[in-house]
Amino acid sequence: MEAFRSITPNHFSLPRRISQLGEIAYNMWWTWNPDAKRLYMRIDPELWERSEHNPVLFLRNVERARLNSVTNNRYYLEFYDRMVKQFDQYMTRTDTWFSQQHPELNNRLIAYFSMEYGLHQSLPLYAGGLGVLSGDHTKEASDLGLPFVAVGLFYSEGYLTQRITEDGWQEARYSHHDFNNLPVIPLTDSSGKPLMVTVELPGRNLHARIWQINVGRVPLYLMDTYVEQNIPVDRTLTARLYSSDLDLRISQEILLGIGGVRLLHKLGYVPSAWHMNEGHSAFLVLERIREMMTEGHTFEEASEVVRSTSIFTTHTPVPAGNDEFGLWLVDKYFSQMWPQLGLTREQFIDLARNSVSWGDTFSMPVLALRLSQGRNGVSELHGRVARKMWNHIWPELPENEIPITHVTNGIHTGTWLARRLGYLYDRYLGPEWLDHIDEPDIWELVNNIPDEQLWAVRRHLKRKLVYFIRERARKLWMSGGSHPVQVVASGVLLNPYVLTIGFARRFAPYKRANLILHDLNRILKIINRPDMPVQILFAGKSHPDHEGGKQLIQDVYRAVKRFEGGGRLVFLEDYDMGLARLLVQGVDVWMNTPRRPNEASGTSGEKAALNGVLNFSVLDGWWREGYNGSNGWAIGQDIDYDDPERQDENDANSLYDILENEIAPLYYQIRSSDNLPGEWIARMKESIRTLAPQFSTRRMVKEYVDNLYLPALQSTSASKKVQDSGYGNLVVT
Ligand SMILES: *Cc1c(COP(=O)(O)O)cnc(C)c1O
Repeated sequence: MEAFRSITPNHFSLPRRISQLGEIAYNMWWTWNPDAKRLYMRIDPELWERSEHNPVLFLRNVERARLNSVTNNRYYLEFYDRMVKQFDQYMTRTDTWFSQQHPELNNRLIAYFSMEYGLHQSLPLYAGGLGVLSGDHTKEASDLGLPFVAVGLFYSEGYLTQRITEDGWQEARYSHHDFNNLPVIPLTDSSGKPLMVTVELPGRNLHARIWQINVGRVPLYLMDTYVEQNIPVDRTLTARLYSSDLDLRISQEILLGIGGVRLLHKLGYVPSAWHMNEGHSAFLVLERIREMMTEGHTFEEASEVVRSTSIFTTHTPVPAGNDEFGLWLVDKYFSQMWPQLGLTREQFIDLARNSVSWGDTFSMPVLALRLSQGRNGVSELHGRVARKMWNHIWPELPENEIPITHVTNGIHTGTWLARRLGYLYDRYLGPEWLDHIDEPDIWELVNNIPDEQLWAVRRHLKRKLVYFIRERARKLWMSGGSHPVQVVASGVLLNPYVLTIGFARRFAPYKRANLILHDLNRILKIINRPDMPVQILFAGKSHPDHEGGKQLIQDVYRAVKRFEGGGRLVFLEDYDMGLARLLVQGVDVWMNTPRRPNEASGTSGEKAALNGVLNFSVLDGWWREGYNGSNGWAIGQDIDYDDPERQDENDANSLYDILENEIAPLYYQIRSSDNLPGEWIARMKESIRTLAPQFSTRRMVKEYVDNLYLPALQSTSASKKVQDSGYGNLVVT
């Protein structure tokens, strides 16, 4: 173990009276406390916009005169003091849920590994839902006071920025992020030299710097290979997420899994539970076994300890999401390792062998499943699908006894809730409601919110979304070089008072973004009814190397461009967490049309529900558990199909019938007594009341603790006290 320092860069030279603005900028806490961002916005609203809501970038560029001026503003200072107090209380709170429930386990540690983290749109560390879930999980671990560290990779370019050509083709752009503008803290040793981890790649060593991001109370450690000790090709190894180059991919996963274990030990952490969030990090089990064997244990002993302290979450039944490597790659990258584990090549491959149509592969989920004792899918139906899919690992067991359970995904309430709606909840659910997010009783009080107040907030949020979209379209037009039809397609003709449906997610074929276009004439007729028009907003990226996904975008874009749509079909470029927040808060209806049972959970609909948006989705993933007949609408039935064409046909017809006969009429049915859509508002309240507690990460992370982490934390053979010099000894100035 090395002594290490993590010192918040202090390059802002802030006036002393408001100096904690620097510390808060370096803690993602501000992203889930919507008042906190006003600490920056109020200093210079225009610069805040230009800084892409990134307080580090903001503080680097703000004019001194502006800072000086708020130090003389009594109202600002009162606000500042209040926020700082709230932050300090949050960071030092000792009566957290975990410390109250499990005081005897407070000196244990949970290590969480994920390939991506979606913490905020300004941090390029995520591609989609998996990353957002990891980010939300980490934030909730902080809220609940779990002894928790998170590990990942630091991508300097992250995932693509999306542009759509006039012909509807996705263009991928990448930009290099300057680490100095991001809330990341470089770790150094006591002499100020960068702290590094090293892993072995064929014929060379790979070195990575270690960075820290503070997520409330939880440290997230990230590795980045852009260092001069590396050969040039290795320097860009961590530039981007999800490359299709398999050498790059296996190298990234070696760094994440093996480098991640070394990183934690280097910093003095001795975790008692190791959570692999998806299979990308599964090499960590090999490194842990190898380490224990150097301490004198046999392979059997070591793998038993590793198994009893590992947790694995699988996130998708879709093959593209389940990493596997050809055996030639395993020979290339691991032939030096199997002797260290005392295994032959065949024994080593058997740890992760998966037989597919073209031969055997080394499967990351199989490796993780075999060497974990806690295993779960992310919804009830997905648990069932996963048990079937991985039955062959336990051929002696019947399908329903396959040891894979489920924890249904949730969302981090503070991150996704609109600020104004939060004020309503403060008033009608009681000021302490945030401490009781997962308790259904609290949410009964939603019924006390006066209809006109709830509706006023909903209208405000939709206007905000439409104004944002129109301003973006204006910028596109003013940038020159775009065709007028692209400006129409990006939403200039939207009306903030028309029933608005949102559909935003990755463009993977199973998500069926084009289901609603199945019968184009029918949908054009529905959206253009003069007495009840409908607008539909599409957004989402395709993997840059996936032609099928890009063609789907093109299909949708061609429909969006048709003049018969009247500008009511819209495609919004570059879906990210910022756009996601505006959409799930601003639309009236959130639609999801996956080809069941491929949507393991889905989470964007949960974000929408929290904000009073009604779900209109296939009974797959979380919605199959959330739908109760009166809190939204179900597309199709709770059944499985063998014939995908018939499934598409039936689902499309169900979609049109419900939209035309139920959703649109309900939205436009105005109560004469107060001019409000009373039935719609009642349904909104039913939706918030029933879905917000259940589909929160508060409920989710508690389930992870009770069902999956506790057995590992309590397994005496493996738990070790966290060394004092590690956890809790971060120097933050
Ligand atoms: C929430 C979120 C997702 C995941 O949404 P799904 O419903 O699972 O498709 C993907 N991308 C972004 C940017 C999100 O915010």
